[in-house]
Amino acid sequence: MEITGKIATVRKRIEQARRDGKRIGLVPTMGALHAGHTSLIDAAVQACDYVVVSIFVNPTQFGPNEDLDEYPRDIEVDSRLCAKGGVELIFVPDVDEMYPSPNMTWVNVEELTTGLCGRNRPGHFRGVTTVCNKLFNIVRPDIAFFGQKDAQQAIVIKRMVADTNLPLEIEICPTVREKDGLAMSSRNRYLDDQQRKDALLLYKALTRARQMVQQGARSSREIIAAMNEILQSAAGVAVEYVSVVDPETLSELDTITERAIIAVAARVKTTRLIDNIIVDLNKQ
Ligand code: AMP
Repeated sequence: MEITGKIATVRKRIEQARRDGKRIGLVPTMGALHAGHTSLIDAAVQACDYVVVSIFVNPTQFGPNEDLDEYPRDIEVDSRLCAKGGVELIFVPDVDEMYPSPNMTWVNVEELTTGLCGRNRPGHFRGVTTVCNKLFNIVRPDIAFFGQKDAQQAIVIKRMVADTNLPLEIEICPTVREKDGLAMSSRNRYLDDQQRKDALLLYKALTRARQMVQQGARSSREIIAAMNEILQSAAGVAVEYVSVVDPETLSELDTITERAIIAVAARVKTTRLIDNIIVDLNKQ
């Protein structure tokens, strides 16, 4: 396995891999890798012959009061996990390599980015789609792998790829959870013991929502109220949104008629966490 910060080196390695007839997989990450990330790497290694993991804490997707500077960085552990997982190349550019001059060209997906996380994080998805567009142009993967944990991001990126005719597939992998259900996240490292307990309320609220749907509940308002009650049971949790949305358009649903994403974002003290589940009335 090789680690490089240089775009030119990535291009060279990819050209060779292509000459060798290899299928290229890309797993874009911000590092501080955990089992959620390694599940994407596993999927990539299964489906592809040459897997690239990018590790880049992308400044353009962070708002002015967000955790860009605090975001955990641990390339030693990350590279061990990648090597163990069968990754061929880690691309870990610095900010100057990715943004050599102030960025003037943005890739922005409209409509899908206005609700959910987009409402509270203006500019976030524009940063995500812009950096993913760059990574796709640098690596030119056959398949790029993303996690269902960031449901809105996955849908936005799929749309960006479709709208701009990028020649790659996007594969969405299931959310990996801790034993007790908490969705794995690099930001879980910020949580102390009490906050870690409070963080579990996101999963508890989603589990309750699933149970209600299984028992026949269809009204979003009813489901959201029950979820809010659970989330508000801890003083340390501040709900940002609880939403029931269409899995393609991300528009709010009053009633669940077929498939829906039930999504939650909350702050546990200062740590912002998100999670979601998909419910499908045809598969109960
Ligand atoms: P990040 O490093 O947080 O930007 O995440 C990189 C990729 O890993 C994204 O596609 C995420 O959706 C995915 N990911 C993060 N956490 C999980 C998880 N718990 N399960 C599955 N995928 C995840």
